[in-house]
Amino acid sequence: MMIANPALQTPPRRRGLMLILSSPSGAGKTTLTRLLLQNRDVDLTLSVSVTTRARRSSEADGIHYHFISRDRFETMRDRGELLEHAEVHGNYYGTPRGPVDEVLSNGRDVLFDIDYQGTQQVRAKAPEDVVTIFILPPSIHELRSRLERRAEDAPETIAARLRASRNEITRWTTYDYVLVNDDLQRTFRDVLAILTAERLRRVRQEAATAAFVSQLLSER
Ligand code: 5GP
Repeated sequence: MMIANPALQTPPRRRGLMLILSSPSGAGKTTLTRLLLQNRDVDLTLSVSVTTRARRSSEADGIHYHFISRDRFETMRDRGELLEHAEVHGNYYGTPRGPVDEVLSNGRDVLFDIDYQGTQQVRAKAPEDVVTIFILPPSIHELRSRLERRAEDAPETIAARLRASRNEITRWTTYDYVLVNDDLQRTFRDVLAILTAERLRRVRQEAATAAFVSQLLSER
């Protein structure tokens, strides 16, 4: 007769990780983020940032960002309610700490679309739980045309963003992984491969696996 082994039936739980995607505006990160969130098997929760930037017509409050005033932003920052924050293109952006802590404590993973300044702050706070990916555009020409195609920003805003993008690109050396987004489907598959491997790292499964292994070894 087969005897069911409860240890083998219960997959070990692991601690959640923070997956950070950064790129200059127009490198395709927003589309990648959407693909990741649409795929039910991927099981990532997006961290919705607060920002003082004006809402674009394609954006919804509470989904793409929480659009807030400078006063409100400063209050949140001063109360320590932000995991990280930065000024980007003259606006404030920040990550509310509460929702991130809640998802992680349930052993689930959080996806962040934040810049290099925020990435450094999150990494400094939780070095073991952070996985960082930098997305490069295939060319500056492509970057410019993606910014123009979006056509939701004024021409001077686009020019400023292009200048900022060149600066952002120089930050790629501080990331764990770097991908050139010349083929969206391939870049998407690469992000999935990184996520799968990082979820399987021993350090992320240590506590749960220790219990599993001691059960295994207690078997005859
Ligand atoms: P956009 O205004 O185009 O939505 O975003 C501009 C830049 O701000 C992007 O590089 C984006 O990754 C970054 N960003 C968005 N939210 C946050 C945040 O909460 N913190 C930081 N540090 N950067 C953010």
